[in-house]
Amino acid sequence: MSVYRSSRFSRLEPYVPGEQPRERKYIKLNTNESPYPPSPAVLQAVRRASETLNLYCDPTALRLRQAAAKVYGVEPESILPVNGSDEILNFAVMAFCDGRIPIACPEITYGFYPVLAALHGVRLRQVPLRAGFTVDHRDYLCQNCTVMIANPNAPTGLALTLPQIEEIVRSNGKNVVVIDEAYVDFGAESAVALTKKYDNLLVTRTFSKSHSLAGARLGFGIADPGLIADLAAIKDSTNPYNVNAMTQAAGIAALEDNGYYMENCRKVAATRAWASEELRALGFELTDSSSNFLFARHPAIPGEELYEKLRERGILVRHFSTPSIGDYDRITVGAPEEMRALIGAVREILA
Ligand SMILES: *Cc1c(COP(=O)(O)O)cnc(C)c1O
Repeated sequence: MSVYRSSRFSRLEPYVPGEQPRERKYIKLNTNESPYPPSPAVLQAVRRASETLNLYCDPTALRLRQAAAKVYGVEPESILPVNGSDEILNFAVMAFCDGRIPIACPEITYGFYPVLAALHGVRLRQVPLRAGFTVDHRDYLCQNCTVMIANPNAPTGLALTLPQIEEIVRSNGKNVVVIDEAYVDFGAESAVALTKKYDNLLVTRTFSKSHSLAGARLGFGIADPGLIADLAAIKDSTNPYNVNAMTQAAGIAALEDNGYYMENCRKVAATRAWASEELRALGFELTDSSSNFLFARHPAIPGEELYEKLRERGILVRHFSTPSIGDYDRITVGAPEEMRALIGAVREILA
């Protein structure tokens, strides 16, 4: 750290993303990307948009909001496109939390929430999970906090039901409830429709996992127009052109091709089912994941050791050093041939 850093940020502990190594080619099952490429229409749209990169992009991303509104069944005023959904989470903490309004979230969840709380000097109430890593929705009623829940949760893949989410939203009418739906397309129920009924619900989406656009950086906030106006005010005070021209074009084309991506999500869910069976047969314990990753432990090998042995064999998975989940690895559900390679490698390691 230099002597110039503001004392406000002297103790920052930044988020550590999963590895993105460039030195050799790995089978990447560590950051929950899609194994399937963007659709041809997306590639063509990006190429066309690149021809006018001398011009600024639309800071209101109007056409992108219209395309998203059509797919999600809400008005364009209810949507804010962002530079990856990490950005909308940051905006939400800035807009809805402060010294008097803490964040309540599960103790085991997406690692970005505590980072954002610390960045903005917001207190964090970490709610312990119940048996089997479950989130009990009754722990999040009437909180006097901004409630932040990933549904399905990460890295466990476990989902709440829509009535449970609605009870949380209804009981926290004085505060905002953020439901992070990064993985919802892989098999959980979406709360997007509830944004028309409750003006305190913010649903966040990302195109990094379900829509093969991790490198393009695109996410959305979906909420009552009042909340969206608050978030847009933060956006326009930090980075008015937050979603670049090529990504706006990619997003529009992806939304117009939504069927292709939903089919990919179904394929991932089918791969998840058989890969889970294979791993269970090898002695693994797994949570009942509704997402595009598995959360697995084997009684005969610690999570970190399995991670390292897979890495030596050219396969990357994610291991978290948090003690309560140290026995586990999070394994992205890749293409069928990638999962066959994983299972082969695991068999070898266990032998
Ligand atoms: C991956 C992820 C995000 C962020 O995705 P972006 O790539 O920033 O759009 C947000 N929340 C959860 C739970 C995630 O796993």
